Amino acid sequence: MDPFLVHVAVLRRVVGTNVEQLLVGPFDPDGVLGPTAMSTSRIVEGAEMTMEIVLHSASRTITLTGTATAPWSGLCSRCAVEVSGEMTAPLDELFVEKVGEDDDVYRIVDDAINVGPAGREALIVGLPLLPLCRPNCLGLCPSCGSDRNETTCSCEAPKNDRWAALDGLSSLGDTD
Ligand SMILES: [Zn+2]
Ligand SMILES: [Zn+2]
Repeated sequence: MDPFLVHVAVLRRVVGTNVEQLLVGPFDPDGVLGPTAMSTSRIVEGAEMTMEIVLHSASRTITLTGTATAPWSGLCSRCAVEVSGEMTAPLDELFVEKVGEDDDVYRIVDDAINVGPAGREALIVGLPLLPLCRPNCLGLCPSCGSDRNETTCSCEAPKNDRWAALDGLSSLGDTD
């Protein structure tokens, strides 16, 4: 059974009530939520997602607030070392009993709601596009590729930043 499927019949019986839930289950049960082309950041493969939520019943809707938490990892966008941590994303979603053709809303189906997709979506949206190993990471030398956080290389300081950037690109292409 899906650990993120919540039965809400009792909650809906009295409009205006709240219920708190702590749910834990696989972030990616089907193995389809890998890294995107946009970034190296991803939720760690095989990780659990924890959702601490409050459900609130209105007449034909249920609101979901709270947080979703999972470990993530990626590569520093400047020096390419592995970066990892735990991410908590805020949730604020609406589940609707009946909708026309609008598939953009979460639904209440047979007096149950599946809160997993809302948690996954919030975590994926919250992943850093350009992760950094530290706020002031110095990156790699565009000429020799050495890690400027660890060593000082003897490459000449570029005369002009614009050309230096192009040099960096061409030297990357020349290697191998
Ligand atoms: Zn770095
Ligand atoms: Zn260098």
